[in-house]
Amino acid sequence: MRMEIDIDKLVEEFERGSRVAVARLITLIENDSDSAQVVLDRIFSRTQKAYRIGFTGPPGAGKSTLVYRLSKYYRALDKTIGIIAVDPTSPFSGGALLGDRIRMQELTSDPGVFVRSLASRGSLGGISRCTDDVADLLDAFGKDLILIETVGVGQSELEIAEKAHTVVVILVPESGDSIQAMKAGLMEIGDIFVMNKADHSSAEVAAREIEDTLRLKDTSEGDWRPRVVLTSAIENRGVEELATAIEEHREYLLTAGVLEKKRRKNLYSRVRENILERLEERFLNSELVAGILKKRMEDVYALKVSPYRVARELEQYLKIDI
Ligand code: GDP
Repeated sequence: MRMEIDIDKLVEEFERGSRVAVARLITLIENDSDSAQVVLDRIFSRTQKAYRIGFTGPPGAGKSTLVYRLSKYYRALDKTIGIIAVDPTSPFSGGALLGDRIRMQELTSDPGVFVRSLASRGSLGGISRCTDDVADLLDAFGKDLILIETVGVGQSELEIAEKAHTVVVILVPESGDSIQAMKAGLMEIGDIFVMNKADHSSAEVAAREIEDTLRLKDTSEGDWRPRVVLTSAIENRGVEELATAIEEHREYLLTAGVLEKKRRKNLYSRVRENILERLEERFLNSELVAGILKKRMEDVYALKVSPYRVARELEQYLKIDI
C-alpha cells in the first residue's frame, strides 16, 4: 500500500518548526522519493545560510565524542545545531554509529539540536546526495551550524571536502594514524587536524608529526595553513581551541573569497551528478540500449571486441539535440 503524502501540510509544519516534520522529510529524502525533490525545490531558496563543518577520521578516534562536546560548546553560545552522521559502509549500523547513544540522546532532547544518522540504502551516490539534501533541509530549518560526521574509507570519506566548509580530521596518537591518514588522502582534505585522546602521553609527539608532515606540503602565500589542535574529548579539553581554529578558518574563507567558490563548486557538482544519474538511468534502462548491450557484452566477454568499442557503438543512441 502506498501512503499518500500531503506535501503542503508537511512543508507547512516544517515551516512552523516541527521536528516531526523534519524527521519525516529526512525519511523521504533517504527513500529518494519524488516528493522529497518537490520539498527541496520549495525550500531551496532558504538554504545556504548555515556553516557546515565536516568531521572525519578512523573509527574509534573519538569523532562522536568530540562532536558531542563541540555541540555543547556551541549551544552554550546559543547557536543552533544540526548533526548528520553518515555511514556509507553499512546499511545496518544506523543509530549505533552515534557512539555513546546516551550522550546523543541528551542532545536530542535539546530543541536547539537536531540529530540524525544516515545509513546507506544503496549506492554511494545515494548517500552523497542524501547528505547534501539533509544538510539543506536542516539549513532551511534554521540551524546555524551543520556538523557532518562521516565514517568509512575511501571516496565517501573524501567527499566531505565538497560538502563542508571546514573539514576537521580527527586522529589519535595510536597505531601510526598519521601515516594512515596520509595514505587515505586525509592530509589533503583537512583544514584542521585534531589529535584527540591527548590524555595519552604520546599525543604531543604525534601532533608534532602531523605538523611536520603538513609543513612539507607546498602552500603558497595567502593559502590556509592547516591547524593542529590537541583535544581530549573524554576530558572535555581543547574544545574551545578547536572552535577557535574553526572560526579562524571560516574567517579565512570569507576574506579570501573561497567560501563563495566552495559554495558554487558544491552546487555545480550536485547538478552535474544529478544529470549524470538521470542520463544513466534513462539510457541504460531503455529497451533498445539494454537489448544491444546485453548482446554485445557477450562479444566483450569472448574478447571479440573491446569495452571501448561497445561504448562508442552505443553512444549513437544518445539522441540529444543540443
Ligand atoms: P568514533 O568512532 O570516532 O566516533 O569514536 P567515539 O567517539 O565513539 O569514541 C571511541 C572510544 O574512544 C570511546 O570509548 C570513547 O569514550 C573514547 N574516547 C573518545 N575521546 C577520547 C579521549 O579524548 N580520550 C580517551 N582516552 N578516550 C576517548
